[in-house]
Amino acid sequence: MAKEELDPISTKTPLLRLQTGLLVVGAGAAGMAAAASAAAEGASVLLADDRPVPGGILSQCIHHGFGLGRYGRDMTGPEYRDAESAVFLRSGAAYLPQTRVLALRPDRTALAVSPDGLREISLEHCILATGCRERPLGSLPVAGPRPEGVYTAGEAQELINLGHYDIGDTVFILGSGDIGQIMARRFCLLGKTVAGMAEIRGELGGILRNRVECVEAFHIPVFLRSTVTAVHGFPRLSGVTLQHLDSGQQETIPCDTLITALGLIPDRSLAEPLRTTGGYPDWLHFCGNADTVHSIVDSASAQGAALGKRLAGLL
Ligand SMILES: Cc1cc2nc3c(=O)[nH]c(=O)nc-3n(C[C@H](O)[C@H](O)[C@H](O)COP(=O)(O)OP(=O)(O)OC[C@H]3O[C@@H](n4cnc5c(N)ncnc54)[C@H](O)[C@@H]3O)c2cc1C
Repeated sequence: MAKEELDPISTKTPLLRLQTGLLVVGAGAAGMAAAASAAAEGASVLLADDRPVPGGILSQCIHHGFGLGRYGRDMTGPEYRDAESAVFLRSGAAYLPQTRVLALRPDRTALAVSPDGLREISLEHCILATGCRERPLGSLPVAGPRPEGVYTAGEAQELINLGHYDIGDTVFILGSGDIGQIMARRFCLLGKTVAGMAEIRGELGGILRNRVECVEAFHIPVFLRSTVTAVHGFPRLSGVTLQHLDSGQQETIPCDTLITALGLIPDRSLAEPLRTTGGYPDWLHFCGNADTVHSIVDSASAQGAALGKRLAGLL
């Protein structure tokens, strides 16, 4: 049900009031599966996502390695996205693209904004499928200026794969999880030099497949028990200080680009204002990377589908 009014804050902004049984925030793999499975059970479902097309981070993951569990074949991220979004778009769930949910309120309403104006959505249950955030370089004690040329791995992936930007020539990678390893291979495939990858632990992170296909196959120099303690150059990065933890030795590695792959944190920022000592309200749920970081997309989809089906039974 929709009713158009004027926003009380700015009389120029239209405020559309909507009602739904289940609001899903985020149209990545998890949110699409949750919305589709709840709609398939007959629930009234509305999915809001801030991007123009469904799929979340799948759109920027142009490499293979998706869908082996759910589809029994090796797909790219966009192929997996297209397969899942076809099911979601046919499911009967309402879809609001380019709609960012700004706040969730204790009275079970959500405030969202889109190019057409503000939306106030009344809901019975809400699933946050908002994905995760990347830990930035500023989370580490790294000395020096804040030059151009420092990106998180996800930012770099989006700039290169979706924006087609050329972001640097000689790259150093701090952190050895899956995204760092995938980006190391991506830079090699672009003809760039990967000067090395530092990992504070005694072994590489990530899944075995990425270690073999991204690091070993491309002969990426790996520095274990090592970290970056300083960056140099301004306005553009010119190098990093690499500290070897066991020997205590330091060396300067020339590079114009530093990629940080320091880990992912579930993005529950919309839920935090609602949290009390008793936890989150019983109408608020999480799936996908907003719940737990999933290295394999199939498990994010499966978790979303199971949650959507369960909640449909409560509506
Ligand atoms: C670089 C990389 C490589 C990967 N490689 C593989 C692989 O090879 N094989 C594999 O199986 N898995 C891989 N994965 C894992 C898999 O892709 C993810 O676990 C999965 O896609 C996460 O889906 P999600 O729905 O939880 O989150 P996301 O895809 O991040 O979706 C979250 C969505 O919510 C939106 N959103 C956030 N906040 C709001 C808001 N307030 N209002 C509206 N919308 C909002 C976001 O814009 C986004 O569209 C990889 C992941 C990454 C990052």
